[in-house]
Amino acid sequence: MGMNGSNTATMTGAWLPGDGTVDLREVPIPSPGPGQVLLRMRASTICGSDLRAIYNGHVGPEPYDDVIAGHEPCGEVVEASPGGRLRTGDRVVVYHIVGCLRCRACRAGSYITCEATFPVKVAYGYQRDGGHAEYLLAEEQSCVPLPDELSFVDGACVACGFGTAYEAVVRAEICGRDAVLVTGLGPVGMAAGLLAKAMGAERVIGYNRSPTRSDLARTLGAVDDVVTPGASPDLVVDEVMELTNGRGVEVALDCSGAAPARSAALRSTRADGRLVLVGEGGGLELDVSEWVIHPQRRIVGSWVTSVPRMEDLLEHLVRWDLHPESTVTARFPLAKAGDAYELASSSGSGKVAIVMDE
Ligand SMILES: [Zn+2]
Ligand SMILES: [Zn+2]
Repeated sequence: MGMNGSNTATMTGAWLPGDGTVDLREVPIPSPGPGQVLLRMRASTICGSDLRAIYNGHVGPEPYDDVIAGHEPCGEVVEASPGGRLRTGDRVVVYHIVGCLRCRACRAGSYITCEATFPVKVAYGYQRDGGHAEYLLAEEQSCVPLPDELSFVDGACVACGFGTAYEAVVRAEICGRDAVLVTGLGPVGMAAGLLAKAMGAERVIGYNRSPTRSDLARTLGAVDDVVTPGASPDLVVDEVMELTNGRGVEVALDCSGAAPARSAALRSTRADGRLVLVGEGGGLELDVSEWVIHPQRRIVGSWVTSVPRMEDLLEHLVRWDLHPESTVTARFPLAKAGDAYELASSSGSGKVAIVMDE
């Protein structure tokens, strides 16, 4: 390593040129300035946004500025900031947005909704170097302590995916009286199912186009029942009604980002039910009177999470003995990041992790 004061020490990092490949480059190890820490990366998982917005083409709304990719970083402090709150050896999850710390959203710890724009508000792995590297230069504001009971892979899964799913289930106000439908059983959908059950949901029903992901979600205990993979929206509604005394679920969580699954999710809720939209992109077609006004349903948006809620999630994962790592179906060393992305972009995989010391 020999990073102290040396300009020659280098590290490997992974870039995503946008053509479905991964580019490994050797770059200098950065040095932390005031308010910053240097982290040795231990795990950096792949999120659906990396695939959607960077790996297969650089498409908005989040611009990718030719930086080291990876916005689910987890590691340990190897160089602390003088006078800062973190110490060498501290294990941390990196909340992946850096905010201005001045606006109302930032003062509430919700850097994702920071009112500033680039270059003040930036995301790791999009506009500044992210976690697919041996080291990461992080702002102290981004670092959330990782409890000893959780692994670095657990922590990486929380940095975006599980954090995002937790925000959605909290906004859904899930309780033990609720049957829940999750549409879209990728990593965020699986996380939503696991967290909904941990919060007491009476049963979780899942829907996905792919039978492989439907089976995986059931095997991992993220869902109790699945409706027929690839079923039409009408059939999804029919099957959910059959499982819920003809009335529908109290809560639907759309993690698919697909318009047909969203409308099926909305129509599968009962009167006074609520739909939380988590999956990004696309549209929602709805019959306003018949599907929303008359049944008095609520439609709620949920985007990533805040730093305080991420800390709350980490505490609850320990209390629930719930390990996000259970959704990881494949691990690769950094040198095989290309294989990791290839697998993650295939529709049947669970969560894919890049793990630095394996
Ligand atoms: Zn702000
Ligand atoms: Zn993400």
